Amino acid sequence: MVLHWWPAFAAAGFVQSDFVGTIQRIITAAETPRWPNEHLGAIKRELFAARDRRARAALVKTEPGATGPRCPLCEWTGWVLVPHPSCVAGGQWLPPFRTGTVACTKCGPGQRAYDANCMAKDAKRPTTLETYEWRVNPAWREQMAAREEAVRLMHRAEDAAASFSPSFPRLAQAIAAGTYKPPAPRRAS
Ligand SMILES: [Zn+2]
Repeated sequence: MVLHWWPAFAAAGFVQSDFVGTIQRIITAAETPRWPNEHLGAIKRELFAARDRRARAALVKTEPGATGPRCPLCEWTGWVLVPHPSCVAGGQWLPPFRTGTVACTKCGPGQRAYDANCMAKDAKRPTTLETYEWRVNPAWREQMAAREEAVRLMHRAEDAAASFSPSFPRLAQAIAAGTYKPPAPRRAS
């Protein structure tokens, strides 16, 4: 079940390390939820806490009192959401449009987070954005923007479909069959 949730969490900016710690904490917690329908809630609570801790730690490492615009790529989290390499072929991002994260090394906080990550015990060196752009997918920005737009249009189409009158199919059939009688015009009083 956890595997089904993972893409949603990854899209929300969580990284694998948030997830790993979360599972361990839930397993060892005194109040471990007993029923499957309680697990998602517990995981979400722990995940949000882990992500916030990570973001705070990254911010603390920045110069105290640092102001100005955040890194447009990673928002100072050190991670950038990109099309997953397994869904990239021939310069295209293909269905099911999975995403993954790569390390931002284009800003101070990102670079420091990356260095810390590389120094951590038995850590796997994360792929950097530079490597990803160079080796995997230079067009990731355009692809992410196009996908966002596609999702937005799809939601708009769904909203439009939902707002159709339920009598619309009946009405369309009647018009097509020539049996449609428009309602009598109201008499002006
Ligand atoms: Zn950055």
